[in-house]
Amino acid sequence: MPTAIVSHVECRQHSMHDHHPEDPRRTDAISDQLISSGLDLYLMYEDAPVVEREQLLRVHDEAYLDSLDEMAPDEGQELVEVDDDTAMNPYTLQAARRAAGAAVHGVDLVVNGRMDAVFCNVRPPGHHAERDKAMGFSFYNNVAVGAAHGIQAHGLQRVAIIDFDVHHGNGTEDIFRDDPRVLFCSLFQHPFFPHTDPQSDRDHILKLPLESGTGGAELRLAVDCAWLPAIERFQPQLIMVSAGFDAHREDEMGHLRFVERDYQWLTEQLTGIVDRVEGCHGIVSVLEGGYSPSALGRSAVAHIRALARV
Ligand SMILES: [Zn+2]
Repeated sequence: MPTAIVSHVECRQHSMHDHHPEDPRRTDAISDQLISSGLDLYLMYEDAPVVEREQLLRVHDEAYLDSLDEMAPDEGQELVEVDDDTAMNPYTLQAARRAAGAAVHGVDLVVNGRMDAVFCNVRPPGHHAERDKAMGFSFYNNVAVGAAHGIQAHGLQRVAIIDFDVHHGNGTEDIFRDDPRVLFCSLFQHPFFPHTDPQSDRDHILKLPLESGTGGAELRLAVDCAWLPAIERFQPQLIMVSAGFDAHREDEMGHLRFVERDYQWLTEQLTGIVDRVEGCHGIVSVLEGGYSPSALGRSAVAHIRALARV
């Protein structure tokens, strides 16, 4: 099954304060593990294009995009703070344009039938970015830009977004809370950042709050009961993944206890849905969190191996 990695070297140039956990070693760790595992031999590699402003405007307000453009530093090592833990250097917005462009390109590759699955190895992450607000290391909501591209450019009517990052994808919920063409399934540690309501008031927004310490066995039970039947009933034409790996038990950012085979299992459930749902084009997965480089690399390889079915 042809599977592609979409990435760009400019995603490495965005960096925040020294010792900030969201740093270029993250995407490097995934690339290194893909090579050392031998999995890279089965994959295609494509450069991420720069996202077009019209593609961002499908999910973000114009005034918000203008404010990011105005705030961005021009040169040097200057950092502009967006919130307590999110900052822009002179290369941040270009990295973010590549990250969102990767999601758009991934959707084109899968919906046009060139690839069965795509993993976007990009940063900055996106799922905390709301329609008019940057937060939680996120500027443009990459997965939302990709889903909106599937709907508006390709005419899709049903896109499922699965978010297994340890943090709730508040930005993705904010963007699609009034758009039932998107089924948004998010699991997350609760209570935890970003402290959104663990209950959903929308049928197309499924939330799976998990207590600190939750491991793979509970994950499988909950996903089996709460998500898989709902996703299959939805009959998605495209599945997108907000692939954060910070719920890994070695990741000190969160307090869940997933391991590599849990990511593999979850991904296999999604490829099973692709097989069973007639007209489902495939899966586009976009990197979100994951801050222990070794665990991130191993987990991403388990996920991509399941996407590529090797
Ligand atoms: Zn996270």
